[in-house]
Amino acid sequence: MLISQKSKQIVDSCRFCWMCRHICPIGNATGQERNTARARALTLSLVERGAADFSGGIADNVYECALCGACTKECATGWDPVKFTKETRNEIVMTGAAPAYITKMIETLSETGNVYGKTALCDDLKKAIDGVSAKTDVLFFLGSDARYAACKQAKGAIEMLKGAGVKFTVLADEPGSGYAWDFLVGAADETKNAMTECAKALNEFKTVVCYDPADAKVMLREYKEWGIELKPEIKTFTAFLAGKIADGSIKAAKTNKTLYFQDPALLARDLEETQPARDVLAACGEVKEMLLFGKDVMWAGSSMMAVYMPKVMKLVAERRWADLAHVGGKVMVTASPSEYAALADVKPEGMELYTIEEVVKGC
Ligand code: SF4
Ligand code: SF4
Repeated sequence: MLISQKSKQIVDSCRFCWMCRHICPIGNATGQERNTARARALTLSLVERGAADFSGGIADNVYECALCGACTKECATGWDPVKFTKETRNEIVMTGAAPAYITKMIETLSETGNVYGKTALCDDLKKAIDGVSAKTDVLFFLGSDARYAACKQAKGAIEMLKGAGVKFTVLADEPGSGYAWDFLVGAADETKNAMTECAKALNEFKTVVCYDPADAKVMLREYKEWGIELKPEIKTFTAFLAGKIADGSIKAAKTNKTLYFQDPALLARDLEETQPARDVLAACGEVKEMLLFGKDVMWAGSSMMAVYMPKVMKLVAERRWADLAHVGGKVMVTASPSEYAALADVKPEGMELYTIEEVVKGC
């Protein structure tokens, strides 16, 4: 295989190890051993030894990983299956071995700038953006998932910030952050080009507030890896809201609601941010914890993976609702547009789902 020596080392370490199989959201949802870091490493070790190629479901299996990092967080010996999975995706695409549905998504991303093939925003979001398109120092970066898979929530976030008197800009022609390219192809020229183009737009502002933690993650981590200069301060939406509540520019009054926060995996693990969202929610109600929370969070699904694994995404999100029920909770709060869409799709009767800005608006 063409992956790095480090990744080959991880493959060799993971292939006979069972120690993180219980925390994989995909493996737990499907009940299949193939959806664990160990099984993926075992099949890739066969490819590395020339005993198999990427056909026969092996390439599909590499795309069944959410790159959520739970296995990496759990690994007592410090191995990182996300690394070999991303590098293998790169090899699979570069050698023409990608499954047809992944090739199609990549073509769609190339043509439209998003994996959903959307060429226009929903009317409500378009109108909301028209009202905040004038240039300010602060760019509110919505991200592709919010714009095209959770447009009602994106519109709600814009309205909440406007209502709170925050001065900000949203770009009507916002470029992709490069997250989708990074997820599908890893470290390819296309990924770097998308990030470079996005950085040009971001560099017109002093502060960029990312609504989607996935975008904040690539801007704060991957752009640096590529040596792409970012001039503005990049803030997560959760940290931005927490700061506005702390300095009194957004007023919040406590309600009697008990709130359970679904930590976005990339926010909690990759960006190591868990407290600001809790501070925001604590200003609005009582905060209790989900089964598995903070850096140990169980990922709850994604709009991008729902394009090619819709049934599994429903199972993943259903399990997260079951986790909430196990701790006696009824109200889940998200800070990831993609997870919101996945959870909303299978919300059980009697449970409530809110975005974090909906909670703030309500208090
Ligand atoms: S990441 Fe660590 S715990 Fe998981 S399979 Fe690999 S070596 Fe084992
Ligand atoms: S990164 Fe997440 S989805 Fe992928 S193998 Fe690890 S725990 Fe499972």
